[in-house]
Parts: sequence; C-alpha cells; structure tokens
Amino acid sequence: MIYLDNNATTPVDPRVVEAMLPLLTERYGNPSSIHRAGAAAAAAVDGARASVAALIGARESEIVFTSGGTEADNAALRGVLAARPERRHLVITTVEHHAVIDLADALEREGVAEVTRVGVDGAGRLKLEEMEGAIRGDTALVSVMLANNETGVLMPVAAVAAMARRHGAKVHTDAVQALGKVRVNVDELGVDLLSLSGHKVFAPKGVGALYVRRGTPFRAMMLGGHQERDRRGGTQNTSGIAALGRACELAAERDRGEQERVRALRDRLEREVTARWPQARVIGGEAERLGNTSCVCFAGVEAEALLLMLSEAGICASSGAACSSGSLELSHVLKAMGVSPEVGQGEVRFSFGPQNRESDVDAVLEVLPRALRKLSVLNV
Ligand code: PLP
Repeated sequence: MIYLDNNATTPVDPRVVEAMLPLLTERYGNPSSIHRAGAAAAAAVDGARASVAALIGARESEIVFTSGGTEADNAALRGVLAARPERRHLVITTVEHHAVIDLADALEREGVAEVTRVGVDGAGRLKLEEMEGAIRGDTALVSVMLANNETGVLMPVAAVAAMARRHGAKVHTDAVQALGKVRVNVDELGVDLLSLSGHKVFAPKGVGALYVRRGTPFRAMMLGGHQERDRRGGTQNTSGIAALGRACELAAERDRGEQERVRALRDRLEREVTARWPQARVIGGEAERLGNTSCVCFAGVEAEALLLMLSEAGICASSGAACSSGSLELSHVLKAMGVSPEVGQGEVRFSFGPQNRESDVDAVLEVLPRALRKLSVLNV
C-alpha cells in the first residue's frame, strides 16, 4: 500500500504506542482518584501536558485535553461566546474545516452569534483587507486556521491576531494540520486559543487538545466533572493523552531535513504531473503552503473514479469533491477559491508523510497515465 493521505490521518508511531500501553495495562487508575493508582495515571497526564505545552510554547495550565480537533474547535468557539455575552459577533474564513464552518452555521441558527465569513483569493490566500473590515467592536472571537487541510495553504494568523487585538477580540486558530509540519508557537502567533489533534501527528484518533491562554474568557462546553481545571468535564483518555504527549515530543525532535525531504517528494510529483498533463492544475501552488500537501485538479475527470482506480493500484489519496445525490459537489474550499466545477471535480489531494519514499512518487506517476486514459477525458 502506498499511503499518500497523511492529512486525513497518520499511522501511530511505534514509540507512541510504547508510551501509551502502560496506561492501559499497569497505570490504569483514574487520574482523579486520590490513591496511588490514580496518582500514577495523573502523573502521566501531567507529563503529557508538559510535552504538549512545550511544543507550542504554552504553559502547562493552558492545555485542555479533548477528544480531538473537532471538539477543540467546538469548545473554543462555544466556550468564548458563552463567556462573552456582551459580544455576539464571530468572524471565520470561508475555508475553515467543517468543525468550524458547520458550528458557525449552527451558532447563527441558534441565535448565539452573528457570523461574518471572510474570503480567500484564487490561490487560497486570506483577504486581509476584508478581514480588517470584518472585525468590529462587538467581535467576541476571530477563528482562522493556520494551514488548510485540503490545499495546505498557510494563513497569516499573526497579522489577523494583531488586527483582532485592536478591537478587543479574542483569536482562535485551528492548528490541526499545521502542527508538526511548520513551527507553531502561541506567542509568535499571538493567539488566545489553538486546536490540535493527535491522529494528524502520529498519535491515535480520539485525542486532541485546546490551548486556552491564561485569562481568556472561557466556559466549559462539556459539563459533569471538574477535570481539566473545570474546562472539560469527563474522565481523561489517559492512554490517548500519554500518546499525544509522546507524539509532541517526537515532533519537537524531528529535524528540518525530514520536512525538506517530504517537500522534495511533493514538489517532484507536482513538477512531473504538470509537465505531462498541462491540463492538471496545482491548487494553492502560488501561495505559501505546507510542504507535504498537493492538491491537484485533473480537469474534466471525476475525482471519485480516479481515486478508486488509484486505490485499486494500492495508492491511497483523497478528494474534497464528493458525489452527492448523483452530481459531483465541489468542496467548500475550492468553491471559496473560485475554482470552476469543470476543474474542481477532478480534485485529488496527495498528502505525504515521513514514511513516504521516491518509489511512492514513481508508483503514482506510473498508475496515473493508465487511469487517466481509462477515464479518457485528457489527451494521454
Ligand atoms: N481541523 C482540521 C484543519 C482538520 O484537518 C481536522 C481533521 O481532518 C480537524 C479539525 C478535526 O480533527 P479530528 O479528526 O481530531 O476531530
């Protein structure tokens, strides 16, 4: 199997598995219990909290463990809006993850918030001037992702945070895709809240964290216990948390050489694809973006058919374009970038990881001509 879908999820690193197993077998106590079994589990959770905090330049007390990125995003938006009833305005971008996009829609429907959605240009870059105009005196929170999951395009979060601060608005960033791929530091970004997820950084699914800067108005969404300093009720997922902590340590140790190697694989794939098929378009290629992500559109091809053919050849990739009730629906990200349906329906995202090799790129380049010929829309 050639796995080129690392933005969807990553394999768990064996060193991470090693770190989590004792929490299932020996240190199985409830971290809230006062006896020694509880203390052993609590120590593991505290250790993991320190590792997560260190990776993003935060204090340990500012880390709230969650069930993943989606919960972290939900907790951030709802948590700040609930704690700032005098401010009801929320600003997001049109290319956020569904965890933010769908939640913002719900908050609007529920009458909890008035939402302004700021757009991007054709390369996926945030329209900063539009953002400047969108933030108001009654803006409670601005939520801008650090890196887009579909295109890898990076957002100018620090610049947005500076704008928000002038209006007394708090700033959240969804750093789920950025973590481990680019430097993430809460002070350099100037953010008040930041979401991260375990399964994008070689830890298991179902664990994540929300950074909440000290002093940020915040109300817990999950009620029912005093865990996480009253910011998230529920017995902690101790093994998952230990795994996330270890994954963050490993991310801190990973050298730049590794990232450059991954970027070189991605760049070679894009170079060769666009040289062979001039109709193929790299989406977000003109913008600053993650080195592992390639969003390529094969105009006139149906992404799902192409993905299935790649899958038959053992290649795993994905697409934001999806078939819904018989017609192909473009992803909200490509729509926001103004990509035409003809081009966007052929969207394939290849996302690389440290486990990928040159031979993986060779395999894609070998399978693609056959697949595209079969789909027989391009001149191949
Ligand atoms: N935010 C972004 C940018 C993502 O890419 C994802 C996962 O695809 C999430 C949030 C959701 O994270 P989780 O799967 O941990 O709920």
